[in-house]
Amino acid sequence: MATALFSHSACFAHDTGEGHPECPERLRAVLAGLEAEEFLYLDRREAPRATTEQIGRVHPGGFADRILRAIPQSGLRYVDGDTVVSPGSGEAALRAAGAVCAAIDAVMQGEVRNAFCAVRPPGHHAEPGQAMGFCLFNNVAIGAWHARDRWGLRKIAVIDFDVHHGNGTQAAFEADPDLFYASTHQYPLYPGTGAASEKGVAGNIVNLPLRPFAGSKEFRQAMETVLLPKLEGFAPELVLVSAGFDAHVSDPLAQLQLTDADYHWATERLLAVAAATAQGRLVSALEGGYDLEALARASAAHVRALMLG
Ligand SMILES: [Zn+2]
Repeated sequence: MATALFSHSACFAHDTGEGHPECPERLRAVLAGLEAEEFLYLDRREAPRATTEQIGRVHPGGFADRILRAIPQSGLRYVDGDTVVSPGSGEAALRAAGAVCAAIDAVMQGEVRNAFCAVRPPGHHAEPGQAMGFCLFNNVAIGAWHARDRWGLRKIAVIDFDVHHGNGTQAAFEADPDLFYASTHQYPLYPGTGAASEKGVAGNIVNLPLRPFAGSKEFRQAMETVLLPKLEGFAPELVLVSAGFDAHVSDPLAQLQLTDADYHWATERLLAVAAATAQGRLVSALEGGYDLEALARASAAHVRALMLG
């Protein structure tokens, strides 16, 4: 069975303005990297829009409508100190969240083995009531609730190897013992959350802060000794991945020193847990990654591992 690649051209039209690191060129770099011949057999699919009902399960109280109403007719508008929206941002955000939901459907229906969603804006900083950190809707958290509502799954895990802590996903998951969130991230760093002492209501939050300039050795050790055993112990029925590539040594926004090979390795290890407890079901979504060349190579390494899985 194939690996699916979900994306949508609307995700290019989320304009964040001159010099903003979360730019459309990021997505162009990822997709250009996946044009290589070895990726010929990706099952390429167009992301549908998420519905406001799907978004509302994570972001209640009319949050989606509030964000969509804040989208300007022209120009740019800041919804947070570093989160910008432009006329194309609403459609992009709906497609980004919709990609994860549709990818879960494709995996659950047995049409594909696993999936990568090449989308923007990213999602893991978006809290239930707050867009922040370049994120409007929490794409993976919306996917988790969709998997519950549509497919009746109970235990769902999100693994987040973005260099930043996914405060939004943690906030959405921490009170529910059947949801599991584990993150490796540079600490201290934006957004300031993600201390090892933040463990959720039932040890269902696992934070693995890494010191600035930590690299492959520390990352793999944290995965091997803590993250993977705890994930396996949780026994997820579906594994979601917040795939940010900004822990790469070349990334300009942080100081961790991961290599392309680390992303291949981490993906293999997560697939192994998914195979053991979740019938191989794994859906990954793009989060950060701001050096365009490193982003293209590291995301290709991730997708290569998904295809081999
Ligand atoms: Zn990040």
